[in-house]
Order: sequence, then structure tokens, then C-alpha cells
Amino acid sequence: MKLSKLASEIAESPTLALNEEARLLRERGEAVINLGIGEPKNKTPIAAMLSSGAKLSSGEVKYTPPDGLPSMKKAVIRYTEENYNRLVAPENVIITNGAKQSLFNIFYSILNPQDEVVIVAPYWVSYPEMIKMCMGIPVVVTPEDGTFTPRFEDIERAVTSATRAIIVNSPNNPSGAVYPAELIEKIVDLCEKKGIFLICDDIYHKLTFNGNVAPPAWSFTNKDIENSNIIVVNGVAKLYGMTGFRIGWVVAPRKLVTVMTNVLAQTTSCVSPIAQAAAEGALNGLQSVVEALRLQIQNNRDVLLQEMKTFNGARLIEPQGTFYALPDLRAFGSNSVELSKFLLKKAMVVTVPGREFGMEGHIRISFAGSVKDVTEGIARIKWALDATSPNEIYIGDKKLIRDWM
Ligand code: PMP
Repeated sequence: MKLSKLASEIAESPTLALNEEARLLRERGEAVINLGIGEPKNKTPIAAMLSSGAKLSSGEVKYTPPDGLPSMKKAVIRYTEENYNRLVAPENVIITNGAKQSLFNIFYSILNPQDEVVIVAPYWVSYPEMIKMCMGIPVVVTPEDGTFTPRFEDIERAVTSATRAIIVNSPNNPSGAVYPAELIEKIVDLCEKKGIFLICDDIYHKLTFNGNVAPPAWSFTNKDIENSNIIVVNGVAKLYGMTGFRIGWVVAPRKLVTVMTNVLAQTTSCVSPIAQAAAEGALNGLQSVVEALRLQIQNNRDVLLQEMKTFNGARLIEPQGTFYALPDLRAFGSNSVELSKFLLKKAMVVTVPGREFGMEGHIRISFAGSVKDVTEGIARIKWALDATSPNEIYIGDKKLIRDWM
């Protein structure tokens, strides 16, 4: 069978694949703990349920405009004003099927073959694959060993005449790093000077800890939205824990939004009005739901930090935001894929290998689940990797055997 070379070379989504493996193990009755997936355990906010329920009961579930329902765009405009102090027009907004589609459509709309996009390691797994799908070339900037924040000089050096954009994700998946204001300011300046886009993946922007704030790129430019190089991506998946509704959006100059709208119209037509109504409900409803989720995640992070203190050999840079930690486990082996497989097989704990994020020797641990998942998950990882611990443990009536190395 002859298939597209380009498509065949696209890697499987490792997080979704691991999640499926964990589901199958759980179905077999294994006591699996999933520290792999980035998905909060909260219920859908009531305002979102009511709003989508009302849309469904109206029986008016039809195509919507390809750039989104006017009422949903209005909610995004208000969100942008309240959270970013930016006044934008409906023509600056497009609603998409998740932030994932936002990002893919941005790359598709700005890249010509062989154009380069600068991404910073550790990076979200999908960026390089999406860029390649759009015939572009991902150019990875890696921070100094032992840090998760890039040096501006390294980003500057990575920009060539072929660069079309730099993508910044702060708070960062997978490290939890929040980039300092000076760095964001310098990147904004660089993009303006070079006339390249700055794509801000802001999907975790309010999930920060202890009063830490992720500085928004827009606060470092005097340009209005039409003349700005800044593209902001957002969505309801993480802040509202509404992963299954698949709602994301982009705020950008209208010229780009027009092209993105055509791309979306010709691929998925529009976004489901039921999902848009849900997101609208979440954005217009009580925002204390976001704060409640943030506090719960902050508590989980504190529990994780406590558990990690007694994890000899692991080095962890404290996450400042998101719900991920990326400990350095090179003391236990340099191959993170093998390490993650070992932890799933022996300790029944799902993690994601750092290699997928451009950080070999690390593994990503999600603390989006329950406190129990975090404490027990870390305890099992420590047990599996600590040579001095007993070779067997019991989880209820199930025996885990480590058979170390
Ligand atoms: N960007 C980052 C950094 C993410 O972690 C994710 C989801 N894991 C997305 C974008 C995509 O979000 P959505 O679920 O809205 O497609």
C-alpha cells in the first residue's frame, strides 16, 4: 500500500498512546496509576453544562460560522480584555477544535516549505510534528544543562533568514517553568525587529503557583493587534478542565485569522455549537472555578515536592506552573523511553519519557490527578528505582515484583 511519505513519518502522539496502554492494563484489572496525562480530574463547570445543555435542548444544532459563533467570540473578546488588557475585534478571533487545531492551523497558514520555526526544549510533543506536517523545519533551542529556561542569546542565534516564527509556551509543558519577564520582552523585541511571528501558547497561563505570574507577550509591545507579530493561543482544556469539549481559540491580526478561517472551513467546517456553548458558559460563568482548580493543582504540586525530597538520585526543578514536573533521572539510566517502560511494567505507573519533549534522561510526571495518585505514584517510582528497597510489594492483593536490572 502506497501512503504519503510525509504523513507516514509523523510520530504517534506518545501521551495518547501511553494513556491507551494504561487503559488496557486497567481493564485487565491492574492497579495502574496514570501520571502521564495532562488532564485535571474536576467535573465540568456548572455554567458550561447548563449552557451546552440549553443549546442541545434547543434542537438547533447546525453548522456555525467557520470562525466561531458570534456569542463565543464575544466571550473570548471579553476574556482577552479582562486577562490581557487588550481590546480586540471579532475579526481578530477564531474558535477552533481545541488549541491543537489552533496551532496546526497557525503553522499551516504561516509556513512555506522549508520555513523554520524556533521552539524551545523542553517543548510540547506536538510542535515539531505539526511543523513538519506543514512542510516546515523545527529548530530546537536547548537550555543549559540543569535549567529549563532558554538563554536569549541562543534563541537569537537560532533565528535565520528562513525563520518565520518563534513559539513560546510559558507556563511550560512539560517542565512547569515560567519564563521571566525580561526574556519575554527580549523575544518580543527580536520578533518585531526581524518581522517574524511570536506564537504564544498560553493554554496554562493562569495555572501558576504562589503568586507567580506568567508575563504576557502583549504587555511588551506598543503595537496594536493588526500590526503586532504576536499570536495568542488559548483554550478551555486546562484552566477549566474541559479537555473533552475540544475548544481552543486564537487572537491574531485579522489577515492571519482570515486565512486560518479558510483553512478551518475547508477541513472541519466549523466547531460544534454544543461545545462552543459549553466554552461560552465557562468563560462567562463564575471564574472562581479556575481559581479552585488552580488551588487544587498547587496543593498537588506541594505534595509532589514533599514526596520528591526523599527521592535519592532524582533532581527536580520546582514547577512554577502547569501540572507537570520533569525530574532528571539520569542517575538511573540515560534512556527515558526504557525508564518509562520499566516504570509502567514494574510499578504500574504511567509517565512520559523526556525524549518526547527534547529532554532525554528526564521523565514527565503529571500531578493533575488526585493527591492519592501523586503520593502513591511517586512512592512506587521510588520503590522501583531504589536499589535498597524490597524486591516485592503488595498493592491490595496484587503483588508487584521489581526484578531490578
Ligand atoms: N498546547 C500545550 C502546551 C498543551 O499541553 C496542549 C494539551 N496537552 C495543547 C496545546 C492542546 O490543547 P487542546 O486540548 O485544547 O487541544
